Amino acid sequence: AKKLGRGRIKAFSPIMQDELLARAQLEQDFQHALQNRAISMYYQPLVDLKSDNVVGYESLARWETASGKFISPTQFIPLAEETGAITELTEQLLRRACLDALEWPAHTFLSFNISPTQLCDKRLSARIVSILDEVGFPSDRLEVEITESALFLDANAARYTLKKLSDEGIKIALDDFGTGYSSLSQLCNFPFDRLKIDKSFIDTFLHNDKQDKIVRAIISLASALEVKVTAEGIEHVSQLMRLKELGCDTGQGYLLGKPAPKASRQNVVPLHAEV
Ligand code: C2E
Ligand code: CA
Ligand code: CA
Ligand code: CA
Repeated sequence: AKKLGRGRIKAFSPIMQDELLARAQLEQDFQHALQNRAISMYYQPLVDLKSDNVVGYESLARWETASGKFISPTQFIPLAEETGAITELTEQLLRRACLDALEWPAHTFLSFNISPTQLCDKRLSARIVSILDEVGFPSDRLEVEITESALFLDANAARYTLKKLSDEGIKIALDDFGTGYSSLSQLCNFPFDRLKIDKSFIDTFLHNDKQDKIVRAIISLASALEVKVTAEGIEHVSQLMRLKELGCDTGQGYLLGKPAPKASRQNVVPLHAEV
């Protein structure tokens, strides 16, 4: 990549050229990491806010480079989507996560993120089912997290995938709810089991009356639709207290437990202590 001829790079500013080289390097490193299975899974607890019990874990992908640097999934997931490597990555990660989850207490579920392009791939549902079979992981202990943007990419394909998954007994969570192309009609058109209230609301709802009302409305919407509701990004006890008061059923966030390479109760802060 460094041998770009003078003629070819002329059109680019030096900054663009550096960016392109860095990007090409990143793509190459990523391919390498994928081949070497160097992308691993971390697990963050999902906590029942009534009992304070861990009810499941969300798997979060981590790429630790050879130099020990961590690259964020917000960087390498889009990269994998653009290069088509996302199919291979998703399969690797799901297999890994299911194998890990087999070691957890039987009542805990695995929540797995599916990227928008994957959701719109009609081959996805069959591949998920075959990985579950291969690993021996029960389909009713798997939840997939999708974002609303996927539903707009190709609504028919997304609907097909979600129907297949829910027919298998796999649960479906709508991630980052309240952001993006938020449209309430999606709740009628797709079979959801859970809404995840986006962290941006949890960050500020204590100091913003309107946001507090929105959080409250999402919780009562979930209850009316008889779906679960999870608040993500809980960092402070005061946020937790308010969410409990509002009857939010599940919570997730650094206060309750950070993502860790092994799912365990150990990284969960004891909440029974009076505060
Ligand atoms: P997300 O699905 O919304 O995941 C929540 C993100 O918030 C995670 O970031 C998590 O580590 C972080 N988080 C959780 N609690 C707190 C908190 O209390 N405070 C703060 N500041 N952050 C918190 P992460 O692991 O960097 O993942 C970022 C995004 O990358 C995810 O957002 C998800 O969209 C995507 N992603 C992660 N793993 C995968 C994967 O395996 N497959 C796909 N397709 N996407 C993934
Ligand atoms: Ca998620
Ligand atoms: Ca989220
Ligand atoms: Ca997010």
